[in-house]
Amino acid sequence: MERQYDLVIIGAGPAGMAASVYGSRAGLKTLLLDNGAPGGKLIKTHKISNYPGVKELSGVELATSMFEQSTSFGAEYAYGDVEKVDADKKVTLSDGTIIEAKAVIVATGTKERLLKIPGEQENIGRGVSFCAVCDGAFFKNKDVVVIGGGNSALEESLFLTQFANKVTIVIRRDVFRAEKKIQEQIQANDKIEVIVKHIPKEILAENGKVSGIVFENVETKEPMTLSCQGIFPYVGQDPNTVCLEGLGVLDDKGYVIVDDSCQTKIPGLYAAGDVIQKELRQVVTATNDGAIAAQHAFHQITGI
Ligand code: NAP
Repeated sequence: MERQYDLVIIGAGPAGMAASVYGSRAGLKTLLLDNGAPGGKLIKTHKISNYPGVKELSGVELATSMFEQSTSFGAEYAYGDVEKVDADKKVTLSDGTIIEAKAVIVATGTKERLLKIPGEQENIGRGVSFCAVCDGAFFKNKDVVVIGGGNSALEESLFLTQFANKVTIVIRRDVFRAEKKIQEQIQANDKIEVIVKHIPKEILAENGKVSGIVFENVETKEPMTLSCQGIFPYVGQDPNTVCLEGLGVLDDKGYVIVDDSCQTKIPGLYAAGDVIQKELRQVVTATNDGAIAAQHAFHQITGI
């Protein structure tokens, strides 16, 4: 890895990989950084069936294909744990390396939100998991509980039915947030039971492994205990924006505020994908943002 680039992209999920394609094809000296495996949340996603042109593909397959393309026009990919981005587009890594760029695109995505209830933290990896695709096979013939009613919860519940004896989805309201198509699949699956109007209160464990979870009825306040061996919380996401703190570019939830060019109020500092303040977080909207940000960065750097 060198120390000077035209464009540094932080995060190799769909937004970052699309930005890499557009930046490098435009002739910018481009560096794509990630502090994990490339692919972002795609590699934790069972199936993708709403990305145009892709009828159905596993998340890993789509991520692999995007990654190959993202580095095929000259962009460099490197491991990099970004600690800080400065207003003058200096990117500082956690090992102290400083990389200078003419433009930076932050595409760091989001991380799973914790339930923040007793028993959660200490049982991660002992029955509590945030990745059905990674851990589902450990729950063969076991009973699992999924918490949340968004796309992630419902899609991963369907995935878990391949292995689990029973999947119980617990939501706090009596309506799902997920798309209708997935709701229909949930209703048609005999292995899935849905419990409404309950919020999680405590995760129970015996002999170092999850044994159940206590919920509270939101109306009657009565407790309900479900016995299970696995718990998958899918209660939303929070943005990965610690590296931008202090720049005044974040909203009150920590998402990056950008204009129509995906540029923040700091010239040359862009953001793309799930990390920005927006309504619809999808692979297709992430790639759209990445393309816009890189194209705008090209115009800004070259003056063309
Ligand atoms: P989400 O859409 O925000 O859904 C979170 C769910 O968790 C909601 O049902 C919410 O309930 C519930 N919840 C939140 N806090 C809770 C708590 N403390 N206790 C119990 N339940 C709680 O999150 P997501 O499913 O992770 O999706 C994030 C984004 O990615 C969304 O924009 C989604 O559309 C997108 N996504 C898209 C796809 C796809 O298109 N295939 C797949 C995955 C994710 P309430 O409804 O009551 O608030």
